[in-house]
Amino acid sequence: MAIVGAGPSGLACALTLEKRGICPDIYERSGRTGLHVPMVYLMLELFQRPHRDQLLYLSKLGINLRPLNRISRVIMHSPHRSAEVRGSLGYLVERGQGEKALEVQLAERLHTKIKFNVEADYRELSGDYDFVVVADGSSRAAADNKVWETTMDAWVKGAVILGEFKPEEAAIFFDTSYARHGYAFLAPFDRSRAVVMLSVPDIKRAEVDGFWEKFIRKANLDLQTVHTFEMNHTSGVSSRQRIENILLTGNAGGFTDSLLGLGLVMGITSGVLAGRAISEGLDYERMVRPMIRRIKRLIVFREALNRLDNSGFSMLISAITLPGVKQAIYNTDLDIINLLYPAVRKLVKKPHFI
Ligand SMILES: Cc1cc2nc3c(=O)[nH]c(=O)nc-3n(C[C@H](O)[C@H](O)[C@H](O)COP(=O)(O)OP(=O)(O)OC[C@H]3O[C@@H](n4cnc5c(N)ncnc54)[C@H](O)[C@@H]3O)c2cc1C
Repeated sequence: MAIVGAGPSGLACALTLEKRGICPDIYERSGRTGLHVPMVYLMLELFQRPHRDQLLYLSKLGINLRPLNRISRVIMHSPHRSAEVRGSLGYLVERGQGEKALEVQLAERLHTKIKFNVEADYRELSGDYDFVVVADGSSRAAADNKVWETTMDAWVKGAVILGEFKPEEAAIFFDTSYARHGYAFLAPFDRSRAVVMLSVPDIKRAEVDGFWEKFIRKANLDLQTVHTFEMNHTSGVSSRQRIENILLTGNAGGFTDSLLGLGLVMGITSGVLAGRAISEGLDYERMVRPMIRRIKRLIVFREALNRLDNSGFSMLISAITLPGVKQAIYNTDLDIINLLYPAVRKLVKKPHFI
């Protein structure tokens, strides 16, 4: 069997298969594992908590990862309001090519050699292998098969910066004047280095610099920049996760939370489930159904967020940081998304893709 892409979901799938005695052929178009630039990603469920502890959840699936740090405080900013939540909120994880990077940690545990510098074509492979797992981080396979719908298409600009940071603290910024209905975040590697990232939906690449400059100015950030980067960030949902002998995992299968565009936990989970489905002859689409149901619900919440102006974002921040609400979201097993879904669904009269 073959895996296209040695990102988090492809590697999680490969590790799961290896544990069950199957050595897949893994194709990776880059020359080595990991993003070209070092980054800090959030493993954070800000408005919802399906997993109380994301790394514990992944370790129960057989994927053990070391984070950079826990997130114990998140400060949320809107133009009119700043508020914070505290507690065991999630983790900061490194991506890139350094030894702490998440993909490097996964690749180190793998015995199978990755075939680097190969741009694989999933269609060709599907004729040569019994199964092909598409974990290439793109919507290509789902779009070719007309089962893809894009829910967010954003340009991201970011920078690795130097300064003084609290390693367990992240900040999130909402302001439609520089982020539209996207957001920015600041997340530290350690006490002296951090990543700051701005994600602006529905703009052209040439426009991102203007939004970035406004963000730096309005958020009052004094940046000592090591380097900057720009990326396209597309997420969406796929109505099928298996097409004949092709299984779609991670971003390729639409396993992203469309509220904030975070997809590591669901991407890795889908990779593990694909590995189990192939090795044990199980029904992959059935296994991922609860995740897909949740993703579709989150799209309705995303559409509600898209209607907010800056006062709306301020009200949202106030609402989720109210003591009783905070307690319910972060310290109980109450499923806020399921609870609020009927009301939000009424608000968003015509959600697409439901
Ligand atoms: C700027 C940005 C910031 C993000 N921040 C966060 C965050 O803070 N938290 C979070 O949870 N999620 C975040 N995400 C989402 C997260 O990156 C994805 O959910 C996750 O990377 C999905 O993993 P994946 O394995 O499906 O795909 P990817 O990580 O994209 O890996 C795909 C791999 O496939 C390879 N590949 C592609 N095509 C081919 C081919 N034809 N042949 C061979 N190899 C191929 C690529 O080189 C790559 O190595 C962010 C995304 C972006 C773009």
